[in-house]
Amino acid sequence: MKAGILGGGQLGRMLLQAAANYPVETFVMENDDECPAAHLCNHFTKGNINDYNDVYNFGKQLDAITIEIESVNVEALQKLEEEGVKVYPKPSSLAIIKNKILQKNFYESINVPSPAFIITQNKNELKNQKNFLPAVHKIAMGGYDGRGVVVIKNEREIDNGFDAPAVLEKMIQIKKEISLIVAVNEKGETALYPAVEMIFNKDFNLLQYQLSPADIDEKILWKAEAIALTVVKNLNSPGIFAVELFIDTSDNVWVNETAPRVHNSGHHTIEANYCSQFDMLWRILLGYPLGNTKSILSSAMINLIGAEGYSGNVHYEGLEEVLKIDNAFVHLYGKKQTRAGRKMGHVTVISNQTQDLIHKANFINRTLKAKTIPPSILSI
Ligand code: ADP
Repeated sequence: MKAGILGGGQLGRMLLQAAANYPVETFVMENDDECPAAHLCNHFTKGNINDYNDVYNFGKQLDAITIEIESVNVEALQKLEEEGVKVYPKPSSLAIIKNKILQKNFYESINVPSPAFIITQNKNELKNQKNFLPAVHKIAMGGYDGRGVVVIKNEREIDNGFDAPAVLEKMIQIKKEISLIVAVNEKGETALYPAVEMIFNKDFNLLQYQLSPADIDEKILWKAEAIALTVVKNLNSPGIFAVELFIDTSDNVWVNETAPRVHNSGHHTIEANYCSQFDMLWRILLGYPLGNTKSILSSAMINLIGAEGYSGNVHYEGLEEVLKIDNAFVHLYGKKQTRAGRKMGHVTVISNQTQDLIHKANFINRTLKAKTIPPSILSI
């Protein structure tokens, strides 16, 4: 079977690592031939994943195609689907998720709790919504990794909003943020991964690490699982879906957003679960049975983000110390250039003791840094 991935970032790279275990010939399209997935696929095509012709021409040679980023040309995927290529996630579900306005309307239409919202087409419309504050303004198209989201606490901050179609969402008093990854096969059967909990650095509001399974009350977990399954079933598509949820200070559960693809919140499944999210997507694409989503051991996953103030050829500080840790698994994405905030790698730690996970996650956060090559090394 010939299967393609639109996008060649770290998610594509980890998909290809899992593909090596299956009878599949892999194809990747991305506009950068030095991207993380470029050298792990069987066939690389340099192209624009947002361009109709590029996506269509890439896809028409394939039996199946998937994505590792939402920002792709959906019309070309629709055409490919009509012509018999398996497109997972289905273009119809991708079209809903790709646009935050359609995504919010979708949650409302299926009666799942998602924060109340107003649609604003431009900044002038936003300025009329002072009574709706505090709120979070989210651009409808093209937002990614926190870009495309601004918090507007009061009237003075309203000018920070987007002058483009967006949703203005009521601010939730968040107690915990969790993510649920759901796998759906062609028969519509589903398998749910244990919930993942995001741990933030309160001073900088930065994601510090993720814990799995999440430390939440069983009843809240059931509520969250029921909501995530409702969302995914109504998307009517095979694939892997990550449903991000908020638990508020009154223990209400709200859907934040859904990703129709393998997700950052599932990286730990490579070592910590019997069947990783990447392995699972191949099972779905190739028509094999769903795998076992259960945890083997609890885990913490730490993203390695380009350090603030460093831009250029990457140098990993503290790598040896981290590699000495028992049960720590280092993943570097092969990006030659670092810059502040860029996702350069991640580390998963597994343990049967939560304290051990937290201790090691904090140590890794302090120790492993993606910086640039120090001038002292360059001059030798
Ligand atoms: P992105 O996809 O760019 O990460 P999100 O929609 O997930 O954007 O928002 C980023 C972060 O902003 C969330 O993880 C959460 O901490 C905060 N946030 C988003 N929506 C709300 C909301 N309605 N109330 C409070 N905080 C929110």
